[in-house]
Amino acid sequence: MARDRTSSEAGTGFVVPPAPRPWLPILGSTGRFPVRRVYCVGRNYADHAIEMGGDPKREPPFFFQKNPESLVHDGGRFPYPRRSQDVHHEIELVVALGAGGSGVAVARALDLVFGYAVGLDMTRRDLQSEAKKLGRPWEVAKAFEHAAPCSALNPASAIGHPARGVIRLDVNGEERQEGDLSQMIWSVPEIIAELSTLFDLAPGDLIYTGTPAGVGPVRRGYALVGSIERVGRLAIAVV
Ligand code: MN
Repeated sequence: MARDRTSSEAGTGFVVPPAPRPWLPILGSTGRFPVRRVYCVGRNYADHAIEMGGDPKREPPFFFQKNPESLVHDGGRFPYPRRSQDVHHEIELVVALGAGGSGVAVARALDLVFGYAVGLDMTRRDLQSEAKKLGRPWEVAKAFEHAAPCSALNPASAIGHPARGVIRLDVNGEERQEGDLSQMIWSVPEIIAELSTLFDLAPGDLIYTGTPAGVGPVRRGYALVGSIERVGRLAIAVV
């Protein structure tokens, strides 16, 4: 992906080069959205929780994180990672925060939202299964390089706050995942409110809001095209 390497952070006394700031393009704007943290919600659609062997009635959704440096822009490449033979796609609505807070009320939560995007929570499923079995953290399954493809942001000022609409992923032109945003167990305002009791949210934070059913493996050469009604489209090549 393209990264800004002409940052004003140069020449400020750091003894090694400071890392470039990850960012996302914005639809209808030449401005760029600087990305701070990447949060993700696990098991936020009942049919996906069930396909993963969970019980959505007994186990509420939960959070994990990815590295902001793992973003891949629309039209980019996802290099099949090492140490896995079972990398899966998870198509997700991404929420981008333009304001922060902690202990945010559900009724005020959407005030924090800058816009929305189409994201892929790429997952080394074999490493995740092993981590679950051993009670270990998920980073090696979720936070690896290039694990967070994300489309351009569509500002809430243009599209509002979509609470329903088709979310789908096509693999090589065939539909693999399909759902509706209205099927989320935690709505976007509920996610923001809950997350803000665990972390101090800030401008630049992204939240991947969970995937509907139909997750499955990818292989080198696959073309992934995700779309969310009113929000946008994300095309990624697995290489
Ligand atoms: Mn996910």
